[in-house]
Amino acid sequence: MTAARTLLRGGRIVSMDPTVGDLIGDVLIENGTIAAIGPDLAIAEGSADIVDASRHIVLPGFIDSHRHLFQALMRGLAADWSLFQYFTTMFGMLGPHMTPEHMSLGTALGAYDSLDSGVTTVFDYSHNQSSPEHTDEAVRALQASGIRAVFGYGGAMSEQLEILSPPFTSTTPSNEAEIRRVRSRYFSSDSGLVTMGLAVRGPDSSPLDVVRADFALGRELGLRINTHIGMAVLDPQGRPNVTRLHRAGLLGDDLIFGHCNLLTDEEFRLMADAGVSVSVTPEDESAMGHGWPPITQLLKAGIRPNIGIDTCMAVGGDPFTAMRFALAVPRGLANQQSLENGANPWQLELSARDVLEFATIEGARALGMEDVTGSLTPGKQADIVMIRTDHISMTPVLDPVASIVHHASRQTVDTVFVAGRAVKRGGALIAADAAGISRRAVDTVGELLEAAGVTPGWAPPPPPHPGDH
Ligand SMILES: [Zn+2]
Repeated sequence: MTAARTLLRGGRIVSMDPTVGDLIGDVLIENGTIAAIGPDLAIAEGSADIVDASRHIVLPGFIDSHRHLFQALMRGLAADWSLFQYFTTMFGMLGPHMTPEHMSLGTALGAYDSLDSGVTTVFDYSHNQSSPEHTDEAVRALQASGIRAVFGYGGAMSEQLEILSPPFTSTTPSNEAEIRRVRSRYFSSDSGLVTMGLAVRGPDSSPLDVVRADFALGRELGLRINTHIGMAVLDPQGRPNVTRLHRAGLLGDDLIFGHCNLLTDEEFRLMADAGVSVSVTPEDESAMGHGWPPITQLLKAGIRPNIGIDTCMAVGGDPFTAMRFALAVPRGLANQQSLENGANPWQLELSARDVLEFATIEGARALGMEDVTGSLTPGKQADIVMIRTDHISMTPVLDPVASIVHHASRQTVDTVFVAGRAVKRGGALIAADAAGISRRAVDTVGELLEAAGVTPGWAPPPPPHPGDH
């Protein structure tokens, strides 16, 4: 639906904007933008498409600040792998065999999976740019999908592979000419639905001169810079790497640090002072060996985190599960500590609204898009999700925020708009090519696994030098 005006009538609005608040009312969309929100908006008859939202919660689209979309092609393969089994197999075996077509299919699958579950904006941490054709295909798939995205250019798989063998650091300089080509070819303006960012190896995985060059290039080109840091025992150069960045004058509010599980309170304070954003990916961090999501420590330092899925090789792609992990894990850790001190927990850490903020407005802030998306606010883009309240898993809705976080699922996501364009209606994804992409993915992934020597259910061997990590 691309009508110039659409009115969502009579929904339970959870705006995530403190000025707008929560209300039962209408949302008017004009030319892709939220024009007005109110209890009973008066519009001339026939001047807008009317959508009955009376049996829906209406909320802003979710924002995923850290997802490797292309890995949706290998969905579930890493379900029982540790982080280091994943590194060994993804970087050493699968990645080098991925073709430009695989990048296209995986990126499209990941984008549609995101949209179907209500994620309207994603930072695509795309660290398999092994040739210009890989990049071209990934960018085109993202642009064709209809999702709002930051394409995080992440370098060649061979750069990632360097991390697995001595000296366990990736010294190859980033491909500056290629990054400049991508910027000017696809992202000469920042006004498109898909914009560009950098997904760099960072100080845990590359020497400081590489980090310095990457950050300088990103800043010259005006790109958000995302990197994995402080997860597992990855850095061979010794911690604390955030302190090294601070001393080098490299911290800034254009940085998004993913994971940060093992960073110290002092490092979190340095990051807070510099305005660094933090992406936690609570489900795979909890399971794979990154360390616990550091949500309580971040809040103590004054950083409100945002949320990512990370990899659909290991976990599912919906934001509801991620929010529930983001709530349950800090609570569980605090409760356990209290119990071990001989006291039953009386109050719980965090709230459902906190994690809903992490998955919406905080993600927008991290991506520098707080004026564009992340809340239902007049003037922002109409990135909107409608969740059914009459689904058996949802009714009765007594507290809409609790219902979103604890009871909703992708099955209850009825309608999704990105910039006012419906990408899901009546519970069905609107994507003419989704069935074809799924078929091609099924057809080609077998060849990829065969070429890589990986079979589903197979457990990779330990990393080559586990004692050195
Ligand atoms: Zn990641």
